[in-house]
Amino acid sequence: MSYSKCTKVKFSSEKYAKDHIPRILEKKKKRNKNVPTEMGTYFCKLCKSWHITAVYSATSEAYNSKVQKLETEVKELKLDLQHSVDQDWTAERRKIRKDEYVQQILEQNRVLRKKNKNLENQYDTLLSKYLVLKKLVEDAGHFNV
Ligand SMILES: [Zn+2]
Repeated sequence: MSYSKCTKVKFSSEKYAKDHIPRILEKKKKRNKNVPTEMGTYFCKLCKSWHITAVYSATSEAYNSKVQKLETEVKELKLDLQHSVDQDWTAERRKIRKDEYVQQILEQNRVLRKKNKNLENQYDTLLSKYLVLKKLVEDAGHFNV
């Protein structure tokens, strides 16, 4: 292994490396990244400088991925719920419109039946008047059917 093979960030002393740890943690927290459970420094024999190393606990990673999965599921459920509420509303509105339409038809039917009844009454009145007149004319002997 040669000096150039080490691509890690190099610190000239253990103190510089340790002083840098809080800044790394701060950045990771700000970016909502998985935060290591442990961070430390070690001397690298390859590049003769100090490096920072991080330990991520398996449980913390598993936990984070579970949380992410749950957050995704919650988002999907919220969308599903919104969709189903929207569908219910559409169905409800359609039903209301249908009911309103039925009511309109029934009302129109009532109006027509009333008109019909009036026409029937008028017809009956006219018919009885006609019959009375016809009888009068027949009685007078001027009318033959
Ligand atoms: Zn190194």
